[in-house]
Amino acid sequence: MAKYQSINPYTNETFASYDNPTAEQIEDALNLTDALYHKWRHEGPETRTATLHKVADGLREHKKEMAEIMTREMGKMIGESEGEVDLCVSICDYFAEKGPELLKPEPIDTKLGDAYYLKQATGVIMACEPWNFPLYQVIRVFAPNFIVGNPIILKHAHNVPGSAALIAKIIKQAGAPEGSLINMYPSYDQLDQMIADPRIQGVALTGSERGGSSVAENAGKNLKKSTMELGGNDAFIILDDADPEVLKQALSSARTYNDGQVCTSSKRIIVVKSRYEETIHELKKVFSSLKAGDPLDPSTTLPPLNSQGAKDKLTKQLDGALAGGAKILYQYPEIDSDGAFFRPTILTNVDRDNPAFDQEFFGPVATVYEVEDEDAAIALANDSSYGLGSSVISSNIKRAQNVAAQIETGMSVINGTWISSGELPFGGVKKSGYGRELSDLGLMAFVNQHLVISMPTK
Ligand code: NAP
Repeated sequence: MAKYQSINPYTNETFASYDNPTAEQIEDALNLTDALYHKWRHEGPETRTATLHKVADGLREHKKEMAEIMTREMGKMIGESEGEVDLCVSICDYFAEKGPELLKPEPIDTKLGDAYYLKQATGVIMACEPWNFPLYQVIRVFAPNFIVGNPIILKHAHNVPGSAALIAKIIKQAGAPEGSLINMYPSYDQLDQMIADPRIQGVALTGSERGGSSVAENAGKNLKKSTMELGGNDAFIILDDADPEVLKQALSSARTYNDGQVCTSSKRIIVVKSRYEETIHELKKVFSSLKAGDPLDPSTTLPPLNSQGAKDKLTKQLDGALAGGAKILYQYPEIDSDGAFFRPTILTNVDRDNPAFDQEFFGPVATVYEVEDEDAAIALANDSSYGLGSSVISSNIKRAQNVAAQIETGMSVINGTWISSGELPFGGVKKSGYGRELSDLGLMAFVNQHLVISMPTK
């Protein structure tokens, strides 16, 4: 892991650095969050709803500042950063409105007695988050757990420490009690020690397969419950009856939103042969009309990747794919800048024996596959170690739903691309991880479903 530093990937300027915490600071954070958990055990979720609405208000008020720090730290286009803040406002409001009802005890139908289960907090949760949505990834864990009564210690990615600090500040200013979310900059060793500490009761990680397996291993060794939201190699399936306008609309952002750095970005475009020419024509049009520039400039549509390291990694991966037989169908012209720009690329001929076949390209690289029919599309979609999301484009919704049901993923969008909202569960299967965030399912991730049964008395 690199140091916690804010480096603008457009200018390469390092504008802030942050130290690892001392042992004493870690101890204080564990004590404070654990004490808050015990205090919250005596207070129902409804006592925290007004504060969570205030966090939403705080995000609205700090929208510009929050969006700018995200863009300056990881290069996201400013309009997308602002959209991310709006999404997080709605997620906070959703859990503030729905949380208490969803956390009511659940009656159990049994002849053995009067039974129900309580939905109780379990303790402090360690949240390890990635840089690609610096605010959204944190709010996905913070908002539901705040209502449940589980305090959070946040270990954000090393390249978005300023975003992490601002999130913690907004939550504090909204009136959330000290310890509701504590932001820290631990080393991996310090993180391991914290996860092993008995005051930590759960671990939520969003990130890569590499980071996920390492943190999950440590959580498992210490018998801590964990949720893993990992990478994806999502299929975007185009059936023969796809509506041309719907297809065009979906392709316009499917692989280029957030410069392709989205877990659920449509990385594999799988198209039946009758629609192949039209699809590559549209995709080339989208890729070639991007405008490279400063992500703080609203007219930019092609920002840099999040870091020079990410550019190097993606370049190496692309070279590997080409060495393995892949062909370039389209590549964006050279970009004259020292920023971490990557030339958007469309690949074909990525065969099963190519190392890239089962890899996630975390940037603007689309792989297109031409297939015979619907069955071949489903088979190819499922031929992956990952299973996060998918899209199906068809004008027959019943048919598309039937196709979606056959895809081994956690989420499928019909006639659209990546979507997220407070009430929609988010998560995957296979190497894309386990557990769900958001919705009623995400709310229960770190809840103790505590059975209470009164036996009949004579
Ligand atoms: P990453 O390297 O796994 O990092 C994610 C977080 O885990 C960071 O805070 C990172 O800290 C930490 N981490 C990584 N390795 C660790 C280790 N060995 N021990 C302790 N902590 C560790 O992920 P990334 O490459 O930055 O993020 C992109 C990945 O996230 C992609 O694969 C993407 O698909 C996935 N993602 C998934 C979802 C989802 O919901 N399924 C959403 C967004 C992104 P440092 O930064 O300090 O290394």
